[in-house]
Amino acid sequence: MKSIQRLPPEVQAAVDTALSEDMLALRLARAQQVITSYRFRSFGDIVIVTSPEGKKYRVNKSLGTCTCPDFLYRCAPAGIPCKHVIAVRKRERRVSVGGKGGHDTGSREQEAA
Ligand SMILES: [Zn+2]
Repeated sequence: MKSIQRLPPEVQAAVDTALSEDMLALRLARAQQVITSYRFRSFGDIVIVTSPEGKKYRVNKSLGTCTCPDFLYRCAPAGIPCKHVIAVRKRERRVSVGGKGGHDTGSREQEAA
């Protein structure tokens, strides 16, 4: 017979916080690896992140979401970003300053209704 032990709410909250802090620390460390070995392609708010193995995930910069299983099953419920989201944010901060002259002009076509 198994019984699920219920923790007092304040203990549960402390455990949850500690766990999500650990999760975040781990992903912050992994994000560095993502920046160096993954490929990034930006489409406005959406960034396609491609792993060295060819796996592709879609990061939404403004929402801070990702399509990887880690984000869906662990990070989103815990309220933290996955390593891809962290990597994209770190990269943006570094790249967006003074990087002029790329072929991507971000052209915006206006349609007259
Ligand atoms: Zn992810």
